[in-house]
Amino acid sequence: MVKDEKLKLINEEGTRIDGRRPDELRPLKIEIGVLDKSDGSAYVELGKTKVFAAVFGPREVHPKHLALPDRAILNCRYHMASFSVDERKPLGMTRREIELSKVIREALESVVFLEEFPRTSIDVYIEVIQADGGTRTAGLTAASLALAEAGIPMADLVAAVAVGKIEGHLVLDLCDLEDKYGEADMPVAMAPRLNSIVLLQLNGRLAKEDFRRALEFAKKGITEIYQKQREALRKKYSGVSLMEV
Ligand code: UDP
Repeated sequence: MVKDEKLKLINEEGTRIDGRRPDELRPLKIEIGVLDKSDGSAYVELGKTKVFAAVFGPREVHPKHLALPDRAILNCRYHMASFSVDERKPLGMTRREIELSKVIREALESVVFLEEFPRTSIDVYIEVIQADGGTRTAGLTAASLALAEAGIPMADLVAAVAVGKIEGHLVLDLCDLEDKYGEADMPVAMAPRLNSIVLLQLNGRLAKEDFRRALEFAKKGITEIYQKQREALRKKYSGVSLMEV
């Protein structure tokens, strides 16, 4: 997309279009247990990006012949509501949504102990209800919390954020305008306790040194998100005694 010459994404002082510093996240809100019908659910709001995740399972596989004898199947569907974006999105699953569902599933597979639930499926649904950049990463952050609420054993939570480059500056947590008109956009997801990267994509170009610094930015953002995830879990379960479980 061609950028309007007058549109300035970042000024000389390093202040971004929405007033943030280069290494600052958008306001983050996390809630767990927001939906009644699913086994686990979470809501993540990062600035104007708003995402729900719902988890069902472990449950019987349909159709049955797809069941695996030694582990659970992890199904994942990332979907953007047609009202979540400016230009109306087609109603069915787009190629982009199919691709994102796959990379999100692969990221979650690196932390979920699937072998504990042979012949079952664990189904993860991510619904983007408002998109303003960073929906796959907010979706992953929400999905891992929904899995935790569903009681699915995991080696760690997954926390995720995008980093990128705009007008020559590295920035954390890109909004839609920064994503569209910037030079590079790199979504990163980590299992922070394991110090392991479970998703890394790069749209655009980054020099080697920029890539290294961008990863540092991502780690900083992920550490903050992870802390909020843990706080949200603690808030939900504090006061629950073993007698109630
Ligand atoms: N977007 C849009 N329509 C689409 C797909 C994306 O308006 O069909 C916008 C939306 O704000 C999204 C942003 O473009 O958050 C960046 O999309 P990208 O594919 O980079 O994924 P994301 O950053 O959301 O993970």
